[in-house]
Amino acid sequence: MIIQLQPDISQAQKEKLIAQVQGICYKTTEVKTQLGDYIIGIGKNEFDIRKIGQMDGILDIHIVSDEYKLVSKKWKVKPTSVDLGDGVCIKDGEMAIITGPCSIESEEQIRKVVNHCVENGVRMMRGGVFKPRTSPYAFRGMGIEGLKLWHDIASEAGVKIVTEVMQTSQIEEMYPYVDVYQVGARNSQNFNLLDELGKVDKAVMIKRGISGTIEELLQSAEYVFSGGNEKLILCERGIRTYERASRNTLDLNAVPILKAKSHLPVIVDPSHGIGIREFVPQMALAGVMAGADGIIYESHEVPEKAYSDGQQTLDFAQSAKLISWIRQSFAMRKTFDLL
Ligand code: PEP
Ligand code: MN
Repeated sequence: MIIQLQPDISQAQKEKLIAQVQGICYKTTEVKTQLGDYIIGIGKNEFDIRKIGQMDGILDIHIVSDEYKLVSKKWKVKPTSVDLGDGVCIKDGEMAIITGPCSIESEEQIRKVVNHCVENGVRMMRGGVFKPRTSPYAFRGMGIEGLKLWHDIASEAGVKIVTEVMQTSQIEEMYPYVDVYQVGARNSQNFNLLDELGKVDKAVMIKRGISGTIEELLQSAEYVFSGGNEKLILCERGIRTYERASRNTLDLNAVPILKAKSHLPVIVDPSHGIGIREFVPQMALAGVMAGADGIIYESHEVPEKAYSDGQQTLDFAQSAKLISWIRQSFAMRKTFDLL
């Protein structure tokens, strides 16, 4: 069960409530986020919801049978909006576009991509400064100095930064420069990292694990929410299947399923999803039609020269076309009442 508390609940009322919930053999956890105070009760016994619901200091009580609770749509029907400030928001009913290189490489490259974003009205830029690479000999990112440089240039242009955090020790040093912490597919179930991101007052985008189920992605999001951070975005980026013709299998089934199960915004990454440049636009548009709230994809001035993932990266001309197609597709989607 999820019990939403009144903001002005007294300590005595809270203790009485917790004792009541524990009295029916439910384990209780207190959760305090930027937006609310909750008590989560985990247990199996049947109970009379009115007995708890009428207690003092309660806003509402909900029975949520899913393994994940706070990220479930069963208690919060209204979709969550993730507001990054300055009019940039990731939310249901709008189409977020996030583009940029796989890796941040140089000041010159940052300036070119920021300009590309500005020219096309894109307010969020992606890029890795800490790169998870399969080979230890591959380029592993410019690190925190690269992020500072990027922040100087992007913030002046009104462009928000989406970048991967790989370990807990990086959270604090990145904090002043990042708008959305990305949890990469390889870290999707790094529970220590998720716990620590729960303590942060900045948005977190969690990518689905390489072999992660939809349920596991939601449980990862639950870690962050129950740690105190409601500013969450889910990202479908493809899973590993037996298919070898594409880098991953972009599971677009996950989009309507996640939207039905959770109130969190869902975005799609077609670049890592298919891994083949010429097919990225198709899969991006398929993601739009599947009901995504945003698309994140890789772009670079000269993809062939990119330090990483050039094979799935669009050049600026292709990217500009895709941005326009995403907007057109989204406008069309809005006219269908099934999505
Ligand atoms: C990335 O976004 O560049 C990245 C490494 O993504 P993923 O974690 O989905 O592989
Ligand atoms: Mn990449």
